[in-house]
Order: sequence, then C-alpha cells, then structure tokens
Amino acid sequence: MAHLYVHIPFCHRICPYCAFFKHTPADTDMRGFVRAIVQEARLRLPQGYAPETIYFGGGTPSMLSPTHLGNMIRGLEEVVDFSQVREWSFESNPATFTAEKVQQWRELGITRVSLGVQSFEPRLLQLLGRTHSPEEVVRDVELLRRIGIPQINIDLMFSLPGQTISEWEHTLQTALSLAPEHISTYNLSYEEDTAFYRQFGSGAGDEETDVRMFEMSDDILTAAGYRHYEISNYALPGCRSLHNLACWRGEDYYALGSGAVGSVAGVRYQNSGDTTTYIRTICDGGLPPGTSERLRPETRRTELLGLMLRTDEGLPPQMIRPEDTAFVAMLQQENLATLSADGRLLLTRSGRLVADEIAVGLL
Ligand code: SF4
Repeated sequence: MAHLYVHIPFCHRICPYCAFFKHTPADTDMRGFVRAIVQEARLRLPQGYAPETIYFGGGTPSMLSPTHLGNMIRGLEEVVDFSQVREWSFESNPATFTAEKVQQWRELGITRVSLGVQSFEPRLLQLLGRTHSPEEVVRDVELLRRIGIPQINIDLMFSLPGQTISEWEHTLQTALSLAPEHISTYNLSYEEDTAFYRQFGSGAGDEETDVRMFEMSDDILTAAGYRHYEISNYALPGCRSLHNLACWRGEDYYALGSGAVGSVAGVRYQNSGDTTTYIRTICDGGLPPGTSERLRPETRRTELLGLMLRTDEGLPPQMIRPEDTAFVAMLQQENLATLSADGRLLLTRSGRLVADEIAVGLL
C-alpha cells in the first residue's frame, strides 16, 4: 500500500507542552510554501504515485486558507493519482475553521477530520495554552457533521498538571456525547525543549493517577462500543485510522513539507525544519536539505517491535525469537500478554501499562 503524509508546520500560537515541529506563520511566504510542497512532490514521488491514505498533519493544517489549500491540492493532483485514496485525514484545531473551509474539505474528498481538543475543562485548556473553549468544540463538531465529513477524531490528553480523576471522566463523557468515530487519549509526556519541561521537569503527576486515568479511558470508551486498538487510540467498528495503522505496521510512506519525516525502502529521511530554507531550496530546483539514514535491520526491528506491541494486532510470530520463549512464557504467566491461535503476542490491559518495558525485554 502507498501512503502520503503532508506536514503543515504552522500554528497560531505555540502550546507550552508541544514538541512537534511547528512555528507561527510570521512572515512566511505562504504562496511559496504551497508551490514548494507541490514541487517536492514532483521531485520525490514516483510517477503515478497512488496513495491509499493521505494524512495532513502539523502544526495546524486547518489554518490553511481555502485559496492556499485549493492551490496545493490542484498542484498535487498533477503529480499524485488520488483515485485510490480510501482515507484522507486532516488535522485541525477547534475555532480555526469556518463553514466555507469545511465545505471545501468535503468537496476535496477529505474523509476524516482530527480535532485537537485535549480537554473539556476551561481551566486545563488555559493551562495548555489552547485558545478554544469547550463550547466551540461542540459547535465545530456540529459543523463538521452538518457538512458531511464522514469521520471525526477527537484528541484528548490526560495526566495534565493538577488534573483530577473526575475532570478526566467529565472530559471523556463529554467527548462521547459528541459521538466521534475515533478518540485518541494521550498521556502527556514532558519533552525537553518545551515550556512545560522547564516548568514541571519530567512530570507533574503520579504514576497511580496515570494508571487510573488510563484504565478509566479503557473502561468508559470500550463500554461505549469503541475498540481499544492501540494504546492511545479507540475507534468505532470500521473507523480505525488506516494511515496510522500503516505506520505502526512499518509500511512505507512518503512525507512532504518542512520538518516532515518519511520512510521509504528502508531509508528514513527528515526535511529541514527551516521553512524559509525549505522553500528556497526547492524553488531553486533541489530537494530540501535534511537528513537521511538507511535503517539497519536491528534498528528497524526495535522500532517495529515497539510500535506493533502497542496495537491489538500484536507482534507477529516471526518477530519473536526462539531465545524469547522463556520471557514470553513469563508474560503469559503474569497475565501481561497472551498468544493468539496464529502465534501473535498480544498485550493484556496490564501489559499495555508496561508496554515499553516489555518491548525492551524482547530486544
Ligand atoms: S496546536 Fe498542536 S502542533 Fe500547534 S503548538 Fe499546539 S499542540 Fe503543537
């Protein structure tokens, strides 16, 4: 399967916990950026490239004006064959789009809008530096539904500084009341080089609360009919993110945009995060500067193992080495994992709480 990721690195305001590659648009030449994305597609993609999934991530893709997005897609259509697309995801932030924009997204063929909600508590939204209110999220979901976007994802975060168990429960229940097809629940990590790290160090919560919030998400969302198909992701039947599943299975994907990371034929590349240099280099006729690394088989195995263990598809038997037999038996005995009839190693709920440690044990 073929997959395409497009990185739109702009955000109106930088959230204090965010470690993604992003910046405010400031005086970025947006027309130049749009042209550069299309030109990078010409330079990088094989002829007639026909992805089955497309993912516009960021940053905040919903910040793109209808003119810029329209020009970008018209340009990409000259290079990319859109006829095979089964899923086209588009990340957005609440209160950054209008009915006009959503109408355009629908007409372009976007099938899935992912909303960066994070919390339904005004106090926590403020702490997270978010500019939207819970009421705006409700209005945005209604707008997306009214215009006919087929699938909506809501991103939420737990283990926030000072967040109580009942606040997390309220956030989960409010998300459920909006009936999205997909809900992501991320345990906040305090990454270096973020304002949160400088303020709170490597963490502000306690492990027991983290575990209770993780288990509460599982209890509430699975009881509502969502499948917990990856440690941080829940979906209604038929609504898993195909693009993310492909990445977790280690499938190839091309990536375009400043700061974008792609992985093709065993080579991982990352474009320079300097958007001005990105635009200039491409407009001068070259691929953007950045890094590129051929992944050694051990590196690839380590990465895949960590990703696949997190999903309900588990680890295929060919990735479990004979010398791991005793470790796997111990995991089964401790109720941390089970083996399926076809030999896949599947983590139990208790196992998911220590997925990273289990992955290390299988290296
Ligand atoms: S809007 Fe999203 S990408 Fe932008 S700074 Fe906030 S969390 Fe990061």
